Amino acid sequence: MFTAEDLAFDRQHIWHPYTSMIDPLPCYPVISAHQCTLTLADGRRLTEGMSSWWAAIHGYNHPRLNRALTEQMEQMSHVMFGGITHPAAVALCRKLVSMAPAGLEKVFLADSGSVAVEVAMKMAVQYYSGDTLPRNKFLTVRHGYHGDTFAAMSVCDPDNSMHALWKGYLPEHLFVSAPATGFYDPWQESDIAEMQQMLAVHHQQLAAVILEPIVQGAGGMRFYHPDYLRKVRELCDQYGVLMIADEIATGFGRTGRLFACEHAGISPDIMCVGKGLTGGTLTLSATLTTGKVADKISRSPAGCFMHGPTFMGNPLACAVACESLALLEEGHWQQQVSHIEQQLKEQLMPLGDCPLVANIRVLGAIGVVECHYPVKMAEIQQFFVRQGVWIRPFGRLIYLMPPYIITPEELSRLTGAIRMAVVQPALFNLLE
Ligand code: PMP
Repeated sequence: MFTAEDLAFDRQHIWHPYTSMIDPLPCYPVISAHQCTLTLADGRRLTEGMSSWWAAIHGYNHPRLNRALTEQMEQMSHVMFGGITHPAAVALCRKLVSMAPAGLEKVFLADSGSVAVEVAMKMAVQYYSGDTLPRNKFLTVRHGYHGDTFAAMSVCDPDNSMHALWKGYLPEHLFVSAPATGFYDPWQESDIAEMQQMLAVHHQQLAAVILEPIVQGAGGMRFYHPDYLRKVRELCDQYGVLMIADEIATGFGRTGRLFACEHAGISPDIMCVGKGLTGGTLTLSATLTTGKVADKISRSPAGCFMHGPTFMGNPLACAVACESLALLEEGHWQQQVSHIEQQLKEQLMPLGDCPLVANIRVLGAIGVVECHYPVKMAEIQQFFVRQGVWIRPFGRLIYLMPPYIITPEELSRLTGAIRMAVVQPALFNLLE
């Protein structure tokens, strides 16, 4: 039961992401979620196009994920990880190490994507901390997004994440232009020149290059060429700088490969995963690294890695993550993602002819319709809800990242709603 009063309380007292407390955007009360359907308090059912910010890869209320949770709950929901281990953490990390790109064999369990990035950056700094010349700078590409905590924000796109607002609080790092060669375009060698020059000049200060492999997500939903990633790996080796791959959005099959790094056949020195790790059930992330990095950190002046959150290795989260990885190991995701990719291409590409549409791109289970104008958020959200779909655009981008289990009919409902939206100028801010 969810009343009008509950909604009014929410509006008065509860902060939602990136929303004003004075004049908040409307919220839609969801009372249950099953497979690819969200049910609203008034009984309306919406087909899910977002996988709850790209996390619910197997859909909602999955019987195996639920069972893993309840079985774990009957043993223990939580126990501290300092001086204690437990079967769920060991089973999960065993699977993670076996699935991850080669060499990533030491796992740090953290609480969220942003914290995994904090951990990765801390690892890189600590890796060099015993050297005669310690390093504390990071190099990254524009249009990146790595989370909302301070270290993570410091390597987000400086304009999108409004570095100006945090000046004085944020550490200042080095940026190069975003990769320009698209995933499907012929590789342009000039694309890597700026990265190469920055590394040549600054490598002695640089702890790591950090970037999202292949897909830049919240910073613009851009898909770049695998050769870019391959060259970054080569340059990091050449200049002796660590490479951090943030696979939080791309990991676990979303781009058509288990990890996006596989498109380039590379292994980073440090890799962050989150989001889909628990199939979108609970918050959990992991930062994986190599034996070489872990050994050097352990020999650094501190003698250990300096991090240890209260809920580290939470057994419920580990158990459900382990089952989510078991579902992936069964391999159906490959067919599912490839069918989604094909259908998204067939149904979204023709929208390129609409005057409001600037670009259409599809990779794996990600479909992006980039428009010429920013959406009017409240209006377009209401429009989509009326069409019976849950799609949450941002800026000029209307995109789909559905659960892998979505049916062709459900996916058609999502693409059909986008097709109707992009011919309605009233849903866009035409003046910007
Ligand atoms: N890195 C990337 C690539 C992301 O897409 C996100 C979340 N959108 C994060 C980090 C931060 O994850 P979280 O929101 O779980 O802190």
